[in-house]
Amino acid sequence: MIRRSFIAALAFAAALPLTAWAEAPLKVVATTGMIADAARQVGGDQVEVKGLMGPGVDPHAYRQTRTDIVAMTRADLILWHGLYLEAQMEDFFHDLGRKRNVVAVAEGVDPAKLRAHDDYADKYDPHVWMSPVLWRDVVVEVQKALTEARPEAAEVFAANTQTFLAEMDQLEAYGARALAAVPEDNRVLVTAHDAFGYFGAEYGYEVLGIQGISTQSEAGLNRIGELVDTLVNKQLTAVFVESSVSDRSMRALIEGAAAKSHDVGVGGELYSDAMGEPGTYEGTYIGMLDHNITVIAGALGADVPGRGMNGKLSAGF
Ligand SMILES: [Zn+2]
Repeated sequence: MIRRSFIAALAFAAALPLTAWAEAPLKVVATTGMIADAARQVGGDQVEVKGLMGPGVDPHAYRQTRTDIVAMTRADLILWHGLYLEAQMEDFFHDLGRKRNVVAVAEGVDPAKLRAHDDYADKYDPHVWMSPVLWRDVVVEVQKALTEARPEAAEVFAANTQTFLAEMDQLEAYGARALAAVPEDNRVLVTAHDAFGYFGAEYGYEVLGIQGISTQSEAGLNRIGELVDTLVNKQLTAVFVESSVSDRSMRALIEGAAAKSHDVGVGGELYSDAMGEPGTYEGTYIGMLDHNITVIAGALGADVPGRGMNGKLSAGF
């Protein structure tokens, strides 16, 4: 009896580390919330994801903290956006890539699909998450990186990716419907910085940012004057603030329009470069875009479901 339980205990002890190893989730670190969400959707219970940039954090200005570095040295896989989004961490990631498994997931998007811009002559607009069509390509890059890091889970990653892409198709269809319901003259999106270029291209909206592609560029008084004239000339009455950018220049714009006796109000707060609170619907990629689409379409005059495409928005239009 004693002998039998001893053998059983031995077998149990021997089996434990093996089981623990097989089931230990892959440790993934992701820079933006959008990439962290893609890794969670694709990875499911095979991954443990740590996102470095929380709600309201501006990726153009972000620098790695000590805690971030510790997390990255312990990670099996590090996902960053690239395309010069994390401008302050560019050198850091290039260095880290020599020692660790580091992937710039947005740099896998075909350059023919990317927008050039004036801020940096040799670089592309990094805000690809604003188009669910383009973001599909990034999700597939995340799938590739996870599969390479854990080939034995390839089928799970492929199935999860398909489920997520199907949700993104729904989002895309909802966006097309809601945004096409806005009167044509109102299809102008005025925001704090130029993050919505792909969104505008996707849905046929003119997009005007006070600041350029990066929040690090200065918003000149000339630019504000120009935008005030556009608001007055086009009789636009709604502008949008962003959760990760100060609304100071937006207030200057509204005051500038008021000085010309043209009433402009804030149509709502959009998630441009960061998602909502973790654990909320807006803290997911689908929820973030549902929020933006619903708020923009509603504020510019379309009849939209107040709580968005899934009825899940906490503060919809
Ligand atoms: Zn941005």
